[in-house]
Amino acid sequence: MSYNKRMFEEAEKIISQRRKNAIEQSKARKREIYKLFPKILKIDNLISKTSIDVAKEVLSSSGDNLKEIIQGLMLKNISLQEEKKLILKKNNYPEDYLEISYYCNKCEDSGYTKDGICDCKKQLLKEQAYKKLNMSVNINNFKFSNFKLDCYPDNYIASEKSGKTPREIAADNFKYCEDYAYNFFNKSSKSKNILMQGGTGLGKTHLSLAIAGYCIENGVGVVYASSQQLLHKLESDKFGDSQEGFLDSVLECDLLIIDDLGAEFYTQFTISAFYNIINTRLLENKSTIINTNLSLEEILLKYSQRLASRIIGEYNILTFYGKDYRLS
Ligand SMILES: [Zn+2]
Repeated sequence: MSYNKRMFEEAEKIISQRRKNAIEQSKARKREIYKLFPKILKIDNLISKTSIDVAKEVLSSSGDNLKEIIQGLMLKNISLQEEKKLILKKNNYPEDYLEISYYCNKCEDSGYTKDGICDCKKQLLKEQAYKKLNMSVNINNFKFSNFKLDCYPDNYIASEKSGKTPREIAADNFKYCEDYAYNFFNKSSKSKNILMQGGTGLGKTHLSLAIAGYCIENGVGVVYASSQQLLHKLESDKFGDSQEGFLDSVLECDLLIIDDLGAEFYTQFTISAFYNIINTRLLENKSTIINTNLSLEEILLKYSQRLASRIIGEYNILTFYGKDYRLS
């Protein structure tokens, strides 16, 4: 994944806003508590005074009993802290109500720990990078909440095997996709890969965009592309155009979604490119979703036996039936 200067700036802006919010919140709480319990204000003043006293002792002491004096002041400090906590607790406030509560405790909203860039900042950078990658995809119009099942016919059996109507099958597929998105990071037993299959306009793109949208919002690194865009970008990558390592993103992202496999103009390059992407991701245990109008037989004929058998073995196949609902 490649990050540019703008992504760093954006991440830093968000982190500094988090820090500001945390500090503001703590100040507001102090104002509230000092008003309600003036005793706590007194205690806080005493605590600052003991710190000053410690500093004074260190600077002025002849050194004889410095240790005892400081220890005494520290003990006083601890007992003042305890007294404060007790008042808060008695009045049903959490003990740490006046402490700054950071969004990320590991780096206290600075973005850095002693080991370098904090995970919270890495996560923000990742979100920026994937947002940029998917900028051209209109995700907002396609959500689980506006997927319509009543567009699917309910008056004939679509599949002998299941004995279900197109609408019932679409409902099953919908549920599967919803679960897939909601449990993206804890899919242990379920297949990590989906092949959505069926005619044009049967909701495959809608459901895969709904998965993409939900996953992106929840910090999953998603790359979404039609097979044509994918190949186009890979080819310009190959010739050194400015795609900033697009192939790396395609291979490394948490979830790759290839829309409309089979619609691209295909050549020997296409066939081996798809096989390599799909195979590498399987080996790396990374999730992939493929949408296609092609049947498995057509995939076999158009691409290769190898690709078809990888898909049959490793993908959960969701088939869609019905008529093009965008036309109705
Ligand atoms: Zn952090």
